[in-house]
Amino acid sequence: MRHSLNKSKGPASRRTAERELILDLLPHLPGHFNAEDVLGAVKAAGVSRATVYRTLDFLVARGILQRVHLGEPGARYEVIAGRDQHAHLLCLGCGELSDYPLPLLQRLPAAVRRRQGFAVEHLLVRLCGYCHKCRARRPATFSQPISTKRKEGAHHVKRS
Ligand SMILES: [Zn+2]
Ligand SMILES: [Zn+2]
Repeated sequence: MRHSLNKSKGPASRRTAERELILDLLPHLPGHFNAEDVLGAVKAAGVSRATVYRTLDFLVARGILQRVHLGEPGARYEVIAGRDQHAHLLCLGCGELSDYPLPLLQRLPAAVRRRQGFAVEHLLVRLCGYCHKCRARRPATFSQPISTKRKEGAHHVKRS
């Protein structure tokens, strides 16, 4: 009964137990998850929405998670502790977010700091486009050249 969230315990130990519960959950979540995914899994144990958000913030601050901003309400999170840097491929059709290994990113912060004196805090590289499933579904629309879209006055990458 490691995770019994006993109400008779003090608030501090309850917080620790809830944090542990969420930490143990991380390997079972999708690669990029949102707060609702976490909440859905821990609600039955009596963990509140506020606690989920507070714990996610805590884990981000500790460098265990990173927020993957998508220019839409709500963020997705992913575990970064012990992982290599990678770029994100965001499908503009279905919203699928996948990782793309990019070893160059590993060395980038040090290079930027050395050359420009700029200390990189977050490194998020996002490539927007259409995944193979969406391209198979609507090949005509999605293979439209960008120059045609510009004529319509819509810069299609800008969503937010
Ligand atoms: Zn897609
Ligand atoms: Zn990722």
